[in-house]
Amino acid sequence: MTGSDPSQFEVRPHPNPRSEAERGAILANPGFGRDFTDHMVTIRYTEGKGWHSAEVGPFGPLSLSPATAVLHYAQEIFEGMKAYHRADGRIGLFRAEENAARFQRSAERMAMPQLPTELFLGSLRALIDIDRAWVPEGEDTSLYLRPFMFASEEFLGVRPAMEFTYCVIASPAGAYFKSGPKPVSLWVSHEYTRAAPGGTGAAKCGGNYATSLRPQAEALEHGCEQVVFLDAVHRRYVDELGGMNMFFVYEKDKTVVTPPLGTILAGITRDAIFTLARDAGYEVVERLYDIDEWRADAESGDLTEAFACGTAAVITPVGVVRDKDHEFSAGTGEAGPLTKRIRQNLLDIQHGKVADPYGWTS
Ligand code: PMP
Repeated sequence: MTGSDPSQFEVRPHPNPRSEAERGAILANPGFGRDFTDHMVTIRYTEGKGWHSAEVGPFGPLSLSPATAVLHYAQEIFEGMKAYHRADGRIGLFRAEENAARFQRSAERMAMPQLPTELFLGSLRALIDIDRAWVPEGEDTSLYLRPFMFASEEFLGVRPAMEFTYCVIASPAGAYFKSGPKPVSLWVSHEYTRAAPGGTGAAKCGGNYATSLRPQAEALEHGCEQVVFLDAVHRRYVDELGGMNMFFVYEKDKTVVTPPLGTILAGITRDAIFTLARDAGYEVVERLYDIDEWRADAESGDLTEAFACGTAAVITPVGVVRDKDHEFSAGTGEAGPLTKRIRQNLLDIQHGKVADPYGWTS
């Protein structure tokens, strides 16, 4: 099975979709990951047979044996991306082939089959085609797309499964920050780490998020909204947040610093920021960034802005940073000029409000 032609997907329309009024009520106030569209994509994989049985059918429960491998050994990966109502009336995607490539890299790390890029892109288009009316139109709103794949073989042996199920579900998403970006407060986790060299930090697998929940709870207990993880070896270099990459702005050097790839997730927003920051006249430096350097430079004023980035919140300024001994604030604790500029730039490209010189939208 190949090709991005959605006609390869068997289409089984929902016999009982929600009424226009019900959908309208949800779209008038979309949250995040709370309400789902009427349909979902499923594609099966069987060892020896390959990918098969692609369909777009009604959104609904999956029926699984209690012995399904994923429930025991967590052989599961996912992606997160958005479809946008564009100014020209089309529904656009942002760098979706990058998500396809990352999904393949995650699959390779987790000993899972790689879904061909055309099939990944075709699955998104097939779902958007049937659930087009679910893409919200308000400022900074979008339809969040969640492709995922799991070991669906009924087997308890510890080895890569021989059957997998790939799905795409979608959820209308409101503007993450209703009145513009609000600084996020960070708790520095010294006790827990997210990923070690040789581990799964660069893969988007469910287990990484399960292990982030306890440190995240610790952040909340200390009055912070998110955790910043340090590296697992030296316990001092900034890795990333639970679901966002980090950037540090040095205005006097016209430089933007970000931690290197390795144990962090290669964010697609992170990569886009490299280009946007360079085009704004900044040098982008990927290097180890010590938590003590962060504090010292924040206190001296050399560090002018710090921000986090990812698909969900786009770009979020960092406000207070806290651990058991220290508390400091990067920049003024508000969104700085470069943070604001890159954020608006990205949103305008994603929503088709300005020309896209980079070929990122489709
Ligand atoms: N790091 C982690 C751990 C994430 O889960 C995400 C969200 N996918 C990101 C960074 C940001 O990646 P992206 O810009 O591709 O959304």
